Amino acid sequence: MKYYSAIVILTLLLACSKKTVVTTTTATADTARTKVAVVPLILMNDTIFHGSLEDIDRQTIGEMDLIRDTVESVSRYGAAGRNGAVILYTKDYLTYLDSIENHVDSLKLQFVGDVMGHNGQINSAYNSKDGSYDYNPVFQQMKPLFERADYTLANLEVTLAGAPYAGYPEFSSPDELAIALKENGVDGLVTANNHSCDLGGPGLVRTIRVLDSLQMDHTGTFLDSADRAQNNLLIIDKNNIRVGVLNYTYGTNYLPNPPPTLVNRIDSALILNDLKDAKLAKLDKLIAFMHWGKEYQHEPNTEQLILTSLLFDQGVDIIIGSHPHVLQKMQWIKTSDTTEYLVCFSLGNFVSDQRTAPRDGGAIFELDLQKKHGETHISNTGYYLTWVHKYRKHGKNNYEVLPAASFETNPDSTLSPYNLHKMQSFLKGSRALLDSSNIGIRELKYVSNDPLESDSLSLHK
Ligand SMILES: [Zn+2]
Repeated sequence: MKYYSAIVILTLLLACSKKTVVTTTTATADTARTKVAVVPLILMNDTIFHGSLEDIDRQTIGEMDLIRDTVESVSRYGAAGRNGAVILYTKDYLTYLDSIENHVDSLKLQFVGDVMGHNGQINSAYNSKDGSYDYNPVFQQMKPLFERADYTLANLEVTLAGAPYAGYPEFSSPDELAIALKENGVDGLVTANNHSCDLGGPGLVRTIRVLDSLQMDHTGTFLDSADRAQNNLLIIDKNNIRVGVLNYTYGTNYLPNPPPTLVNRIDSALILNDLKDAKLAKLDKLIAFMHWGKEYQHEPNTEQLILTSLLFDQGVDIIIGSHPHVLQKMQWIKTSDTTEYLVCFSLGNFVSDQRTAPRDGGAIFELDLQKKHGETHISNTGYYLTWVHKYRKHGKNNYEVLPAASFETNPDSTLSPYNLHKMQSFLKGSRALLDSSNIGIRELKYVSNDPLESDSLSLHK
């Protein structure tokens, strides 16, 4: 581990007497660019200088580290020098350096299941007065929860193919669906799933164009091979942590993707090749978002299990699954201090008009990554159960996704007794499944309605 050392070079060696104010220059590696804060240092005692050095950023310190290498006999609290320069460490500096050496970077990620677009949802979003569409009411209850994360990634299981819009079986949703996802905190979308080709090549291409125009990250489907070469590995690069995302689907409902468009299919040769490329990308963690499994089954099937082993063997750290439209187990397994695997086999439906329990809800999976001394680990995990509240208002159906746990105990909830019961039964069934089959991943509750705990997080059980 490189030790970031910072150096203050006194341009002239002044007499080191007590309480003497001296002027110093912090230097960069490139003497031609010698610059930087001239910091008055007050000599507090014989060995330690005291001064404010807040304005020296990490980059400068990195550069200064290079200088350190050119200087002989550097001592921690003392002075050293060459060519007439004197190097002095200040107490503040050392504190600052210690804080950098012990610095931990962290990144909170969230993963969202299937974003569907059935006819009922399209009709609900439609405003007959002006012919516009608005999906914001669908997601607004989720916004505070999504805003907890540094990055939220969801599975877009419709095309944005333009009008005429269509629900099942060949989905084309209004662009406003993606706009509302973005406005309510979803940062990126994966697009390789069995509905990628519902509206043919034009639908696939338009979906990409719309997401690009919204400046939303995406991966999974591509305009052509050049686009894939550039964008297949989606890199989330935030808070000094780099996470790669790859996305594949088991198929596209037998609909072809016309050349030159591409859909990432689950094909071990293709995946292994992509994983080889991903290793060159200096990632801290690699995620595979898989569209797989059997619909409406709570148990992962053999293909999911075989693929999980393959992906972990070949360097994937985290697997997020979707497609079954119901929840499947989540497992976080540490095999040593440095090795850990995490898989969520299926996050269920995030939003849909599938009302048969338990298709009427899903889970947001959340994890924290921490990076220290160049090593990145998963530090926390959990899931929030979500439920789609469908209700009648102003003569039409409305949909909203709820962070369900915060509504089950809220006495002010606007849920009808019928809907409250339906949501509670979803929660009960989901907890029974996940409590018995998860490893190392617990339910989280987001309490957004209590003003005393407006941003509090509590653990279920
Ligand atoms: Zn699917």
